[in-house]
Amino acid sequence: MAEVRARCEEEKLRLTPARECVLNALLEAHRAMTAYELLDRLRDEGLPHQPPVAYRALDFLVEHGFAHRIERLSAFVACTHGSDHHAAAFLVCRGCRTVAESKLPAPIRGIEETMSRESFTVERLVVEAEGLCAACAEAGTDTP
Ligand SMILES: [Zn+2]
Ligand SMILES: [Zn+2]
Repeated sequence: MAEVRARCEEEKLRLTPARECVLNALLEAHRAMTAYELLDRLRDEGLPHQPPVAYRALDFLVEHGFAHRIERLSAFVACTHGSDHHAAAFLVCRGCRTVAESKLPAPIRGIEETMSRESFTVERLVVEAEGLCAACAEAGTDTP
């Protein structure tokens, strides 16, 4: 969190209480959280908790690379790589909804380059892999 604050100061970004609260929740969770879960958190902290508050905070965090949206889950995770606008791959566990962020494998970066050559500029390439994490595989979790 100190790191995030430093970066906000450096880039003159305003880390409002709502934004900070949402990011803190994501950092602690180590899994994807939906906007509604984050609204609960805002309410618990005594902050304004209308849906637009959560969505605006999430837009800010995603835009500046502090968080990612996981389309598969319609949920959000804190970015663990700390630089904005990087290509990333996400390993999404369908059992416990943990999300691990990993670097985009080289072959996929090759695809990005190929696509960019076809007179199209790729600005964002996100890979989401769905499966089971080690803990869930071991526990035999098999809910679709
Ligand atoms: Zn990231
Ligand atoms: Zn799992």
